[in-house]
Amino acid sequence: MQKARIGVTGLAVMGRNLARNLARHGHPVAVHNRTPSRTKALVEEFGDEGTFLPAETPERFVESLERPRRLVVMVKAGGPTDAVIDEFAPLLEPGDMIVDGGNANFADTRRRESALRERGIHFVGTGVSGGEEGALHGPSIMPGGSAESYEALGPLLEDISAKVDGTPCCTHVGPDGAGHFVKMVHNGIEYADMQLIAESYDLLRHAAGLAPAEIAEVFRTWNTGRLESYLIEITAEVLAHTDAATGGPFVDVVLDQAEQKGTGRWTVQTALDLGVPVGGIAEAVFARSVSGHAALREAARNLPGPSRAAAAGPGFADAVEKALYASKIVAYAQGFHEIQAGSAEYGWNIDLGAMATIWRGGCIIRARFLDRIRAAYEADPQTPTLLTDDHFAEAVGDAQGAWRDVVATAARLGIPAPGFATALAYYDSLRADRLPAALTQGQRDFFGAHTYRRTDREGSYHTLWGGDR
Ligand code: NAP
Repeated sequence: MQKARIGVTGLAVMGRNLARNLARHGHPVAVHNRTPSRTKALVEEFGDEGTFLPAETPERFVESLERPRRLVVMVKAGGPTDAVIDEFAPLLEPGDMIVDGGNANFADTRRRESALRERGIHFVGTGVSGGEEGALHGPSIMPGGSAESYEALGPLLEDISAKVDGTPCCTHVGPDGAGHFVKMVHNGIEYADMQLIAESYDLLRHAAGLAPAEIAEVFRTWNTGRLESYLIEITAEVLAHTDAATGGPFVDVVLDQAEQKGTGRWTVQTALDLGVPVGGIAEAVFARSVSGHAALREAARNLPGPSRAAAAGPGFADAVEKALYASKIVAYAQGFHEIQAGSAEYGWNIDLGAMATIWRGGCIIRARFLDRIRAAYEADPQTPTLLTDDHFAEAVGDAQGAWRDVVATAARLGIPAPGFATALAYYDSLRADRLPAALTQGQRDFFGAHTYRRTDREGSYHTLWGGDR
């Protein structure tokens, strides 16, 4: 009986396309889905793309895999992943590998990896980015798990990943939950990037008075420069799109309430646990949250604001481009700081430059800019922040005047720009000679005897404040 090199269970959009990608690259792939009709449909529709070995039961599926077995799980994250592991693990042997390609929480991945390791099974939590198109044509792949499992899986995963300049967008991220952690932060950065682009649009529309089609042209121009990226490219497409039913701009008929699935929120929750300031990502998550509070917005709609009559002058689009670039540098610096902190906390030893390298293709945040990040970490792998890299420091230095003007214009006209504003505040906080945290420490010592440290002497101090405290 012919054996498959790898198997995929869970054949909704992601699993189906990943299986097709494997088959198209000449790897015989076993396919299975809880509901067999999906398996049948895949083979009927795409059977001529390569060698698919369909299986109706978990037993037949596992039997059809070469040893050590490589089994990719692409099911709904959370309980369903545990259910699938419980079903398949008893059928596996030591040395076999379960690859979870779903959007799992890295803490779940750590738990699963540890439990399966005791049974000799490699559990490989793997971030897969790029949506259904990426899964089919080449995603960015972020595998965690043991180095030993990567020896057996790496060549296959690299083969089906996106390539940029001949380099695969896939590398071993680090042990246990490292892959899912990095995928989570990737998504958090994606939230921030999208929010900053949305704010740029809003400012061009309401401060400069441009129409969506004109703004699409601005984004097209930006996409030929340092902001060149998938997100800028699709933003221009969306803004240029006309709604068939009304003949008006598509963006005007879409309800302005952004949804979210959870990885952005996890990025912020994890950053809070690690004590890493990721204001750009947090504001992006909160901006979606604010947009969804319809009753709250309705209640506040008539609160007073400034007149919007004062339109921004010529050169405003260039200023917004600078504000966007500078804020984007901050958001990425914060995301990479979180990866650095997670890596230190969990002993993952993640190569930050390699993460920028595998995000250059296949994933939603793919961009020319990531080459710069890679170069920054090549120059100094231990740099505490990307902001001090020569290129980024110069770019932000050059942009800061325009950046401040844009944030001020937004405030003056009453246009919300939380992403731009928080990025600028972070930049200024890092630059500050003295922060008002000294006063905060004084207050804490006053009301709670929490003590403080001094600038001129070692040790902890408490002042005997007046009154009967
Ligand atoms: P999905 O809608 O998240 O999940 C549907 C799949 O899960 C179906 O195959 C379904 O089987 C299976 N499933 C659900 N509960 C199950 C259970 N208790 N036991 C066995 N199988 C169960 O599918 P998706 O959008 O293709 O995503 C798959 C994974 O990739 C998810 O973790 C998702 O977060 C992640 N992901 C998705 C994207 C994306 O763009 N969609 C991008 C990156 C990562 P039945 O057919 O039997 O119901």
